[in-house]
Amino acid sequence: MIGAQIKPDYSDAIAEFVKNGGEIKQAVNTHKAEFNFSVSTGGSKQNIPLRKAAEAKGLKTYTPFSPCEKCGTSERSTKTNACLECDRRRARAKTGLSLKNLEAVGHYLLDKGESVEFTSGGKKYVLKVEVA
Ligand SMILES: [Zn+2]
Repeated sequence: MIGAQIKPDYSDAIAEFVKNGGEIKQAVNTHKAEFNFSVSTGGSKQNIPLRKAAEAKGLKTYTPFSPCEKCGTSERSTKTNACLECDRRRARAKTGLSLKNLEAVGHYLLDKGESVEFTSGGKKYVLKVEVA
């Protein structure tokens, strides 16, 4: 490319640091592995005892050590360790049914004065709107 400038492989902040007398030293390998698991793994290691305790009590869900990194909620399935809110969001994305869509269905059924019958797992169900 004509006129393209080659960028230095360091940032302005580093250039400033060096200009002000800062020294760049080579990293020294200490052969020590010091990880903060609560940061690097989202607290999943700390979740193990919490999950086991919930399992022992027969609880379906438990509160993890730290909230979900994706949705920020603190409720996980004891059985699968999946975040419940993320699961719900995935399910909603799959069916394309948001609360708004369901409301639209409600309005439709109300306007038409209709109910919908359907079968699931060999059982008959009816979907209808009732006055609360
Ligand atoms: Zn989540």
